Amino acid sequence: MVAEIICVGTELLMGNTVNTNAAYMGRRLADLGISLYYQTVVGDNVERLADTVKTALKRSDIIITSGGLGPTEDDLTKETVVEAMGSELIEDVHTRRRIEEFFSRFKGIRNVTVNNWKQAMIPKDGFAIDNDNGTAPGIVVEKDGKRAILLPGPPHEMKAMFEKDVVPYLEKLSTDKLYSKMIKIAGVGESNVETEILDLIDNQTNPTIAPYAKMGEVHLRITAKAASREEGDALIEPMADEIRKRFGRNIYTEDESVNLEDVIVELLTKEHLSIATAESCTGGLIAGRLINVAGASNCLNESYVTYSNEAKERLVGVSHDTLAAHGAVSEETAMEMAAGAAKAAGADVGISSTGIAGPGGGTPEKPVGLVYLGVSYKGQTYVRRLQLRGNRENNRNHTVEFALIFLRDVLLGNV
Ligand code: AMP
Ligand code: MG
Repeated sequence: MVAEIICVGTELLMGNTVNTNAAYMGRRLADLGISLYYQTVVGDNVERLADTVKTALKRSDIIITSGGLGPTEDDLTKETVVEAMGSELIEDVHTRRRIEEFFSRFKGIRNVTVNNWKQAMIPKDGFAIDNDNGTAPGIVVEKDGKRAILLPGPPHEMKAMFEKDVVPYLEKLSTDKLYSKMIKIAGVGESNVETEILDLIDNQTNPTIAPYAKMGEVHLRITAKAASREEGDALIEPMADEIRKRFGRNIYTEDESVNLEDVIVELLTKEHLSIATAESCTGGLIAGRLINVAGASNCLNESYVTYSNEAKERLVGVSHDTLAAHGAVSEETAMEMAAGAAKAAGADVGISSTGIAGPGGGTPEKPVGLVYLGVSYKGQTYVRRLQLRGNRENNRNHTVEFALIFLRDVLLGNV
């Protein structure tokens, strides 16, 4: 079964409203295992809308529209779709009553206009979907083996109707569902991941495999179309095994809801290790990511934002000579910060960041984006150098991500 989304509204074309309805519906259709090949945005114009609908009906089984169901003159979706499908509108008593009820709640504030009764007109070959949050009902048209589901534009109205009535309707129509598994990889660049799995992507049918790049990480979603969870898993597992073989320890979780910081806090907690950070360019963001995790208090007592040289000396004991000889952004300083943070906090692990976030402060020897990370663990201190290429915000966020990846590597003995 193939569906197609049509969003109606000149405001969407002009970029005044972001088309969040399409993103939402696309996601939900994928969850339901319904194929979606096209999304279209069309303005409030009868001819172009009719054209779009006719094209969609030729290539898809179900069209789902949003927008243009309101009471005003430029709301033409219902009339246009019903005509394009060769049906006709008749008054629906139930819907007329719902509109009366809706307005009775706003007595003296909002009055029914003649246009509102337009919304009580329902196609002969279809039915209305109640709208609990507005006056425009949704419409389902079923004609000659094709179906159209028309929903209002306001996202909260559309979503409520989609979840309450459209999902059950679609579920009854489709036999197969989509089952998926997420594998999260850290510390391998996006293009490297894609190169590694090119053969899998090229030969994919069922399951399919889709990479999503996320700052410093790549998430692979394996999706199978199947009649049951067991059948889905049986299709997914061989592909998951192949991916595990290729990325090994760079896979940090196979649980969609787990983040890198969750994994790190779990590792630290399991080993009864405590941690402290000394942060310069990240200014507390590394500690912040760890503290995102409920249970971070098992391993983190205190941390330091050591932005100035003076603070690096006073709070985490970086030596004056190191700063004078190598500068704040250097391997040596990063290492002393990491070891010093652990020592000052009496922690088992210390982690540090020092870098040039930009936009100013770069030199030919130490350009913007140069960052050193230190991790001190079991009497050893490790250091990693990054050369980032983003703006200030980006560089700082990337530094945090790479610091967490580095930390995980050290904890796993992956250095
Ligand atoms: P309509 O049903 O066409 O009267 O749309 C009413 C309002 O819903 C518009 O003014 C937009 O703010 C919002 N809206 C319509 N279509 C979308 C869409 N595709 N995504 C997000 N918001 C939308
Ligand atoms: Mg509109």
